[in-house]
Amino acid sequence: MSSIRVRFAPSPTGFMHLGNVRAALINYLFARQKGGTFILRIEDTDNQRNFDEARTKIIEDLAWLGLSYQEGPLVGGAYGPYQQSERTALYQEKLAELVSLGRVYRCFCTNEQLEEKRKLQQAAGKPPRYDRTCLLLSSDKIQRKVEAGIPFIWRFKINEHQLLSIRTVSGHSIEFDMQHFSDFAISRNDGSFTFIFVNFIDDWLMNISHVIRGEDHLSNTASQAAMYDACAVKMPTFWHLPIICNDLGEKLSKRDFGFSLNDLREGGFLPEAIINYLAVMGASVAEEVQSKEDLAKILCFEKLTSHGGIRYDLAKLQWFNHQWLNKIPLERYLKTSFEWLAKTYGDRIYGQEVALERLLILLRSEIKTYTDLAPLTRFYFEDIQHDAETLATIISIEKREQLFYLLDTQLRSGAHTFGTLLEHLKKEVKPLGISTKELLQTLRYLLTGSTHGIGVNDLFAILPEATVITRLKMLLP
Ligand code: GLU
Repeated sequence: MSSIRVRFAPSPTGFMHLGNVRAALINYLFARQKGGTFILRIEDTDNQRNFDEARTKIIEDLAWLGLSYQEGPLVGGAYGPYQQSERTALYQEKLAELVSLGRVYRCFCTNEQLEEKRKLQQAAGKPPRYDRTCLLLSSDKIQRKVEAGIPFIWRFKINEHQLLSIRTVSGHSIEFDMQHFSDFAISRNDGSFTFIFVNFIDDWLMNISHVIRGEDHLSNTASQAAMYDACAVKMPTFWHLPIICNDLGEKLSKRDFGFSLNDLREGGFLPEAIINYLAVMGASVAEEVQSKEDLAKILCFEKLTSHGGIRYDLAKLQWFNHQWLNKIPLERYLKTSFEWLAKTYGDRIYGQEVALERLLILLRSEIKTYTDLAPLTRFYFEDIQHDAETLATIISIEKREQLFYLLDTQLRSGAHTFGTLLEHLKKEVKPLGISTKELLQTLRYLLTGSTHGIGVNDLFAILPEATVITRLKMLLP
C-alpha cells in the first residue's frame, strides 16, 4: 500500500448531494489508481443535531454506490476514531499546542458586537475582518474576564504579511496573500470546535496526503494553510473540485432534479451509471461507458477539469443509465425490474413471472430508468382506455368492421392459435385494402392503448388469451 491517503469527509446533513457523491468518487478512484487508502470520516461537529440517522444513511449510500473504504466508522483503522464527535480530546490537545505557540487568543466579543463591527466596516467600504480588539487585551484583563465567567472563543492569529502557497494535484500551486484573510474562530463559546480547525487537525493526524474536496472550500484552505504553517506540519496536496451547475450555469440546488442522491435512487438510476457519469464529466475519455475499476485505471486526474463549473446534464446521465441497464447481467436487471414493478402493482406481479419476464426483456432496450417500467407495463396489469378518435386516425370505420369480422371468424374457428394468427391475418387483409401497417397499428393500439411499442406477435404471447380477445372485441364500433 502506498503512502497516498485520501478521505471523504461528509457532514451528516441527512442526504448526499451530487457534489458529495462526486467528491467521494474522485477520492475513491484516486486511491485505487495510486494503490492508496480511502478513508471515510464523519464530520459531525455541530452539536445541535442528532447525527445517528444521517450517518447511517451516508454509510448505506456509499455501500449502494459500491464505494468501499479501508478505514472509517464501523470498519475501524489505525487513525480512529473516524467520527469527529469522538475526537474532542485530540482537538483539545492540539488547541493547547497552538496556545503555547502563541498563535491563538481568546475573543470575548459577542455576536452583536461582531455584527456591529461588520456593519461599520461595510459602510466604510472595507472588507469584513475581525478588528483584533481582543488580541490587544492585557493579560490582566483577560484573566479577569475568564474569572468572571465571560464566554469566549479561541481565534487563530493569522500573519497578514505572509504569502502561503499550496500544491495542487494538477501540479500548479495556489498562493494566498494572508492580508486578505481575517483571524478566524477555531472554537465556539460552548467549548466545541469549528469545522475549519477540526478538519485540519484530522487531516494532519490521519496523515492525509491529498485533500480532494469541493471548490467551495478554497477559502477555508487558506486559513488551514496558515495553521499547517504555524504547526510546522507538511501540507497535503489539494484538489478543489469544480462546482456542479445546472443548465442555467447556477450552482446545482435542491430545486434541480438529481441534486440529491435520493432523487436518483428513487428515480430508478443504477449506481454504475451515476458513478460513470460523475467520473467522466469534466474528463475527456475515448470510451465513455466504463466501470469504476476501468475508470480507476484510465483517468488522468492531473488533467480533469479543475476549475470553474461543470454542467450537470440529466439527459446525458439518462443515456449512461440506459447503457448500463443493457450492460448489467440479465438476472440482475430482471430482479430489480420485478422489485420496481412490485412498487406499483404489488402482489399482481406474482404468478405472472414468465409473461412479465418476456415483457421486461423486450422493454430493456426502451427504458432510460427503472421508473419507465410501470407506465410501459400498465397495459398488462390494468384495463386500457381507447378513444375512438385515435382509432379513427389509425384505421377507417369500414376497415375496422371488415377486420373485426375476419378476426371473429378466425378466433371462433379455432383454426389458428395466436402464434400463427398474425401471419394469416396479414395475408387475408390485403384483398380488403388494409395494409400491414394499418393491421399492426390497430392491433397494437387495441392491445396496449398505444400506437407504438412492442410487436404484436410478442403481445399475443405475453397477454392472457382472454385479455387479448376482450381487447380485440373493441374493434366493434
Ligand atoms: N465536512 C465538509 C463538507 O461536507 C468536508 C470538507 C472537506 O472535504 O474537507 O463539505
